[in-house]
Amino acid sequence: MERTLVILKPSAIQRALAGEVIRRFERKGLKLCAIKMMQLSDELIQQHYAHLVDRPFFPRIKESMQATPVIVCCWEGIEAVQVVRDLAGTTNGRKAAPGSIRGDFGVSVQENIIHASDTVENAAIELNRFFGADEIFDYQQSALNFIYASDEL
Ligand code: UDP
Ligand code: MG
Repeated sequence: MERTLVILKPSAIQRALAGEVIRRFERKGLKLCAIKMMQLSDELIQQHYAHLVDRPFFPRIKESMQATPVIVCCWEGIEAVQVVRDLAGTTNGRKAAPGSIRGDFGVSVQENIIHASDTVENAAIELNRFFGADEIFDYQQSALNFIYASDEL
């Protein structure tokens, strides 16, 4: 099983889409292992968006991500990193496929509703950045045998 980080951005909070977005991950069959609301600090944003820190639009990313508290969550499943990226859709909401979260709920690059980890390696780093070990829960997903076939588990 993989675990991945999702952040419901201020665009999701202000547009009251948190429930709708969480519902999509739940319906897919992913297991919610952690969830909390937090206000992102300057330091956390610099770490999280380190690959964009030198871009001219970084101040705008920071301002957007700090506009309201965000909801961070951890989802678990087989190949969960890619499954969640596919549910999210491509970065630009105007280009994201209809049916994806970004494709259905946004028309912006910045205000694109969610962040989702892009690789298994980054998912582990990001989960560690946003959650303490005692905030991520292990429990039995009772429908597991109806979510996956026995030879997938
Ligand atoms: N972003 C932006 N302009 C760009 C690239 C990125 O505003 O040209 C923002 C956008 O909110 C995006 C985030 O920075 O979701 C992180 O960028 P990344 O390329 O990692 O895209 P993602 O992994 O979120 O699809
Ligand atoms: Mg990214």
